[in-house]
Amino acid sequence: MRLFRQTESVRTQRAEIELRHDGETYRVQLKRVDTARRFVLRVRGATRDAVLTMPRRASLKDAAEFAERNAAWVSVRLRRLPQQVSFVDGAVFPLQGAAIRIVHAPGERGVVWRAYERETQAGATPKLYVAGDLPHVERRVGDWLKAQARKEIGAAVAHYAALLSRPTPSISLRDTTTRWGSCSAAGSLNFSWRLIMAPPEVLRYLAAHEVCHLEHMNHSPRFWKLCRSICAETDVAEVWLKAHGADLHRYGAKKAGGSPPTAISF
Ligand SMILES: [Zn+2]
Repeated sequence: MRLFRQTESVRTQRAEIELRHDGETYRVQLKRVDTARRFVLRVRGATRDAVLTMPRRASLKDAAEFAERNAAWVSVRLRRLPQQVSFVDGAVFPLQGAAIRIVHAPGERGVVWRAYERETQAGATPKLYVAGDLPHVERRVGDWLKAQARKEIGAAVAHYAALLSRPTPSISLRDTTTRWGSCSAAGSLNFSWRLIMAPPEVLRYLAAHEVCHLEHMNHSPRFWKLCRSICAETDVAEVWLKAHGADLHRYGAKKAGGSPPTAISF
């Protein structure tokens, strides 16, 4: 075990521990919390790592020892998580709520394209063809999904903004793990590109949710009333996200770190 990174910011002090157990290496994020009275370790499915919450004044050495004593527990919990799925030839992942299979088509023209429905036999998993060299399949699928997400989220945001007689806000895509969307104080909206894997009504709901934050920068009863009035799928989508949202983080490569979120969150 070794401490390999420690950065400090005004509000929080962060460090990461690398924990070795049974030939495997696990990441443990250290999080100092003013109100913490003891060490608390938990495993996160979305980022496939562990978080150790520690009192403000506890030493890094004690934190590292605590993590080490609990290495077996971390290992068991992380190994019990469902398998990660990379965007490689043959992999199946959800696209707009329905399973699709990646098929490498090196000799074909184009970059990434969906099979026409008539090409898909009844009951068979639809195909997503990816041209080019095999090592580039994962990146191409990721890029294609982000482009699809931008198109679909952009259209939904424009739709709901028009319902509220507002100009279409600018949107950006991220790979956040703690929230699906956010609205900055300046009125720009951020979304997780992974929403393109969720059923279309869930993506639409998130667009409606963030657009409603342009009117109410909170989750007050007035906010929810407005959200439900422009998006009838609000409650169904909330239930879906609670039940299945974390699963969307299983697919594709995940970049470590990520920018800290700002302003109101989902
Ligand atoms: Zn919100």
